Amino acid sequence: MTRAALRCRLCERTQPLTPRSTCPTCHGPLDVEYGLKNLALRTDDKSAPRSMWRYAELLPHVPADLSTPGLTPLVEAPRLSQALGIHLLLKLEDANPTHSFKDRIAASAIAAAQAFHLETLCCSSTGNLGEALAARCARVGLETVLLCPAGDPPALATATYRAKILRVAGTFDDCRTLERRLEELFPWGFVEGNLHALASEGAKTIAYEIAEQLDWQLPDAVISPAASGTLFAKLAQGFDELAALEAATGTRPRLYGAQAGGCPPLATAWADDRPLSKVLPDTEVRSLAIGDPAYGELAVGAARMSGGAIYAVPEEEIADSTSFFAQMTGVHADSAGGVAFGALLELVRSGDIAPGERVVLVVTGTGLKPYGYDVDYAPQEVTSDVEDVLAVLGVS
Ligand SMILES: *Cc1c(COP(=O)(O)O)cnc(C)c1O
Ligand SMILES: [Zn+2]
Repeated sequence: MTRAALRCRLCERTQPLTPRSTCPTCHGPLDVEYGLKNLALRTDDKSAPRSMWRYAELLPHVPADLSTPGLTPLVEAPRLSQALGIHLLLKLEDANPTHSFKDRIAASAIAAAQAFHLETLCCSSTGNLGEALAARCARVGLETVLLCPAGDPPALATATYRAKILRVAGTFDDCRTLERRLEELFPWGFVEGNLHALASEGAKTIAYEIAEQLDWQLPDAVISPAASGTLFAKLAQGFDELAALEAATGTRPRLYGAQAGGCPPLATAWADDRPLSKVLPDTEVRSLAIGDPAYGELAVGAARMSGGAIYAVPEEEIADSTSFFAQMTGVHADSAGGVAFGALLELVRSGDIAPGERVVLVVTGTGLKPYGYDVDYAPQEVTSDVEDVLAVLGVS
């Protein structure tokens, strides 16, 4: 797996794969680069893993366990297709082991951590990433430390996997700030820090799967919810790589992102054609409550370059949209799915999506996930001050 390298998005210097958050020369953000020549994205090998690892050649690290996640179903949505006059397909990411696409990111993060012999993984999470990481760490025997905003308890199952949960007095963005301090102090893998470039690569496999499940014919448009912008930017990258490798026919799909009205930094930057500004999240959609998106510029760029857009769906419409989506598809999506569906309705109404077009909506997670702390699990309460966290971890 040594064809891949880390490349600085600003100064373009490359270096071998290593756990690091920024470019050693200019502190720019890092991306994984592959020598795309001679790589095989399409496999006709019937014994290829029935998971995201079937695309191992285009991933930075490959674990020993190739059984999950990914290769989730792509299904028809006949009633909505008929009602909207389009050909709608749903990519069911709730079919992953912990019921969201975050399993792909956790799996890539852990494959990298194992390659670098890191024994503890840490992330900030409003729910799905934390559970995905805790579950995959449990599977391979690594430790997990999760930073959860006090107002957003983790998915109930998270503690069951023996994750160490720190309940931080603050928002998700405060958890991220704290995580960056911890990164200076501990030799751990940080999913959105020193492993971010590597971990986020997992999400692009959704684009590969969509192409393969459509017999390598690209759809006209893809719609997904967007918060940190990671999924959205990685979908774009995945479709770009499919094109670069000439693995699929058809033009690259237009990519449409959907945000909650109470937390629309990407939609605002897109609409006003200006650089991203942080917002303070005020949304009921916990999986989309990120006010300072790590892949924001990439996501807005991906919408533009693909001929798509990023829309915000008014808060007061989201519950109905999620429910109507369930009534018309039989899929009980996370409210982020309701947000994506709200954006789809708007796109059909405005004519941006034309009659007969083939459209894929990414159902990023399940609506059936209980959140909270188990009665017999007491999370450790901390402020967002790093000294406090060190005391709780017993290292001050
Ligand atoms: C994380 C998440 C999102 C947002 O993905 P980003 O990569 O942060 O933009 C959307 N839906 C669900 C269910 C999620 O867990
Ligand atoms: Zn650089």
